[in-house]
Amino acid sequence: MNGREKYKISVVIPCYNEQDVLPELFRRMTDAAEGWGVDWEIICIDDGSHDNTWALLSTQHANDPRWSALSFSRNFGHQTAVSAGIFHATGDAVIVIDADLQDPPEEIHRFIKKWLDGYDIVYAVREHRKEGILKKISYWTFYRLLSRMIDFDLPLDSGDFCIMDRKIVDILNTMPERNRFVRGLRAWAGFRQTGLAYERHARTAGESKYDFKRLRRLALDGIISFSTLPLSMATNIGLWTSALSFLGIILLVLQYIFRDFFESLGIGLKPGFSTHVTILFLGGVQLIFLGIIGQYLGRIYDEVKQRPRWIIKQHLGLSTKPPSNPL
Ligand code: UDP
Ligand code: MG
Repeated sequence: MNGREKYKISVVIPCYNEQDVLPELFRRMTDAAEGWGVDWEIICIDDGSHDNTWALLSTQHANDPRWSALSFSRNFGHQTAVSAGIFHATGDAVIVIDADLQDPPEEIHRFIKKWLDGYDIVYAVREHRKEGILKKISYWTFYRLLSRMIDFDLPLDSGDFCIMDRKIVDILNTMPERNRFVRGLRAWAGFRQTGLAYERHARTAGESKYDFKRLRRLALDGIISFSTLPLSMATNIGLWTSALSFLGIILLVLQYIFRDFFESLGIGLKPGFSTHVTILFLGGVQLIFLGIIGQYLGRIYDEVKQRPRWIIKQHLGLSTKPPSNPL
């Protein structure tokens, strides 16, 4: 492509206990990047791994300085690792990709091509997932639920795998929130966005780090940071419950007045029953909404504490010096 040489592309790769895939990642990613015909840098974020991830990343940096790396003082989570990588990327466009080769590096050139065509965000849309049925169903439901709750277009079935123009990266870097759902923030930013279909492979090696608890947390971050619908649901459900109890009251009054008639139907007054049902129902609804308010409150608390979003233990070859407090 003409004039490509003048661009620099950064690739951000979060790595958490990925020693088994790293050698193949280094090889395949470097091979792919050599074919792009642009300047490139790769930033790997060691998200507090307990295995040999850091040792492998340092060796790779020594072998090929275009591979830089930083490590966190502990595990801060995938979305934070991605955010830190994006923060330190210096390219005209930034690619985010998982370390486990589920997203094939060989596909990246198609993303770059679209970016050069003028799109600001090109996100990957998973055509087939080679994952368990439960995970597939959870993801499917979650994306559809979330997209109905928010007032901007959230691409369905797109993960973090994408290319973003510098102007989107700058916007993401100014977003201060801690509980991040990067693919949502990315969509929220707007500009010209498009999807590219690809086949998501199974993990090359190692195990998925997303267990049910982490997925649930990610889903809640997605919903809570983009929608206050769960909060306003309290009002709606409250209104419906009052309407329902009002009907109940009318029924009770009728049962009282036309006692004989209702008894002949077999639905006469049973002492105490209505009270039990009402208390259980209202108690349940109240607890649910206390929980929902708690979820929001917890996240607000996280935000107001203004702690650094991550803590860097060591870094190799970064072009930008890590700030002491990455807000
Ligand atoms: N990851 C991370 N920190 C974590 C969990 C995961 O940096 O706390 C990285 C992981 O190394 C991988 C990517 O995030 O590169 C996606 O994780 P994984 O493949 O386990 O998730 P899945 O593809 O199963 O959803
Ligand atoms: Mg994976």
